[in-house]
Amino acid sequence: MPDLIERDAEEQLVPGIFVLKLERPDGTEGDVLFAPTADLILPITPAQAAMLSEHSGNPSVTKLLVEALTHSTIDTPHDDISDLASYSPTSVALMLTTTCQLRCTYCYADAGNTPSKHLAESVALRAIDFIIGNAIATQRPGVIVHFHGAGEPTLRQTLIETVLDYSRAQCATNKLV
Ligand code: SF4
Repeated sequence: MPDLIERDAEEQLVPGIFVLKLERPDGTEGDVLFAPTADLILPITPAQAAMLSEHSGNPSVTKLLVEALTHSTIDTPHDDISDLASYSPTSVALMLTTTCQLRCTYCYADAGNTPSKHLAESVALRAIDFIIGNAIATQRPGVIVHFHGAGEPTLRQTLIETVLDYSRAQCATNKLV
């Protein structure tokens, strides 16, 4: 998609799945199906964009259409929370800030163009406590900590170091990796 450079509009079909309308240098437009958490970015025709838009807000139909377009399976949000009682995650993705020094046209978070929000240190450390507690309770060997985009994580370098130091110390104390 190297010749599609200007984002003109976007439509969220369901949470996490978008159709972006991009403008080429010659002024013509192209549609792109974009699902950042599924590593999916796919140029689509105007007819395909219209079909997706027609079923916007319907997760099950959107899932079927996206799978038909991509010839692969894709996870979409669902309303079934019946299994949450036993949900004990041992990994966490921390979004440290919405601030970014770049303005990538494909940024799903529109980072840098929205009011800045920053993750509090206390919340980040509480999340680490939570996944370590889950690892202990479910007898799993360790935890995983991600620092996610939607803003430039390295702008919070001090918090990254604090979280990693705290995680390593808590893991060592509890014989986790
Ligand atoms: S958060 Fe990532 S994708 Fe978004 S503008 Fe910054 S560098 Fe680009």
